[in-house]
Amino acid sequence: MSKDELSQVIVVGGGLSGLSAAYRLATLGRKVTVFEKEEKLGGKCVAIKSEGFIFDGGPQCFRDSYDIMLKTAISLGLGPYLRIPVEPVGIHSRGKLSSFFPRKISALSVFPRFLVHPSRLAGFISTCLNFAGGYRKHDVRFPGRWTGISDKSAAEYLKEKIGEDFINEFAQPVVRFSLGSDLNAISVQAFHVALKMFLFDRTGYFSGGLSRLIETYANKIVCKSGISVERVIVEKGRVTGLIIREKENDKEKSLKAKNVICAIPAPEVLRVAPDVNRETREILKGIKYSPHLVVCLGLESELPPRPGFILSSIRDGLTFDYCCASASKSRDCSPAGREMVTVVFVADNAESVFSEKEETVIGRTVSLLEDMWNTILSIKSSAVRKFICGRPVINPSHSRVIADLWSYGTGIEGLYFAGDWSYAPTMEGAVMSGFLAADMTSCRFNLPFVS
Ligand SMILES: Cc1cc2nc3c(=O)[nH]c(=O)nc-3n(C[C@H](O)[C@H](O)[C@H](O)COP(=O)(O)OP(=O)(O)OC[C@H]3O[C@@H](n4cnc5c(N)ncnc54)[C@H](O)[C@@H]3O)c2cc1C
Repeated sequence: MSKDELSQVIVVGGGLSGLSAAYRLATLGRKVTVFEKEEKLGGKCVAIKSEGFIFDGGPQCFRDSYDIMLKTAISLGLGPYLRIPVEPVGIHSRGKLSSFFPRKISALSVFPRFLVHPSRLAGFISTCLNFAGGYRKHDVRFPGRWTGISDKSAAEYLKEKIGEDFINEFAQPVVRFSLGSDLNAISVQAFHVALKMFLFDRTGYFSGGLSRLIETYANKIVCKSGISVERVIVEKGRVTGLIIREKENDKEKSLKAKNVICAIPAPEVLRVAPDVNRETREILKGIKYSPHLVVCLGLESELPPRPGFILSSIRDGLTFDYCCASASKSRDCSPAGREMVTVVFVADNAESVFSEKEETVIGRTVSLLEDMWNTILSIKSSAVRKFICGRPVINPSHSRVIADLWSYGTGIEGLYFAGDWSYAPTMEGAVMSGFLAADMTSCRFNLPFVS
């Protein structure tokens, strides 16, 4: 291998985590190349431009607690594009839309107390105290603290303490909105993080779309798109190369490489790097994903006044989980006089419509919104995106296994992991995981789990 090949790092995957890893490595003076299998960089975080609308086709917002992501964006000159509008969040339940303005008033006055039966008041109060007691720990950046080893599922805990109405009409919608997961599948600590995000974080976006960060990174890094990495070659327990496939001519090629960061979803890591040790393989197999489906709608005319995000707790038939109806985002990302709304279906709601035709999904989504707002919507532009591996689920053992993964490594010298699944299921988690992988590649150990 030449000296250049030895010092170069290959990043597999041009999503937010891969590009963050590459950017960090470049700032540390390392030579780095990103291989992305699609033509477009960004992975889940991609903008769709149509008829003058700029839709966020995956994530809809960041939160103002996204410390590392926001600092990075500002250091890259994106400060003038940051928007954190002061808009309420609403929940649509039992045919009624209630909106909360949680950041301005106390958390206790926000909880929908009508959902708590008097006999469960004691459980409700103890849950609130539990939340308040651990408030400082419920940090979006430290998933190492998102689970205790014997943690229960959040649904089990809340069922015992508060009851079904609270779960169905408040807790479940909050978790689907904040973490993209089902309450049954996540830990109590992860529920607390979701609650904190919902009650106290303001949501924001970049004018011109969330993919601005992706585009800015891409201008500073060597990225080769349309190249899929098929296999990481391992000899005597160390990385020696890669097999890649070029989309253009469908030909396989092998390359020499000594340091590789796989910033791809966990099931894809298993395919590309099957030589990882048994423990790592078990961890990778245990990462579950919640599927998502996103419907972007550009409208001819203005929407009625509404909260920025609307969470849905309707559970009959096809339903959405939440929609981004931010008036501020509409002004920034739609042509004059037009508006946009993006509807997200999560987990079982997404799966139930995966096999349907795009037009059918759009038609049914529009009628759901029309029922909710009691108005007729005229559609100018639309797009649908399906995510089989939507967002990783923070199950009760997630943090412990991820901590093991970060502490013991991949079992292969020169191979590192990044990706939202290896940290937290958010854009902040993707950026953090990329930075951590870059630091490990450069022997700058700064593990989040070792306190
Ligand atoms: C619908 C939806 C809504 C969301 N909403 C929010 C939100 O509001 N706020 C928030 O903070 N987070 C949100 N998230 C989560 C956030 O989008 C992700 O956490 C983040 O974008 C993950 O980035 P990543 O780089 O880890 O993964 P990905 O975006 O999946 O990137 C992986 C990349 O690797 C590429 N790849 C895969 N295999 C190969 C291969 N063999 N060779 C080369 N390339 C390969 C893929 O094409 C992809 O580009 C949402 C996610 C979804 C799906």
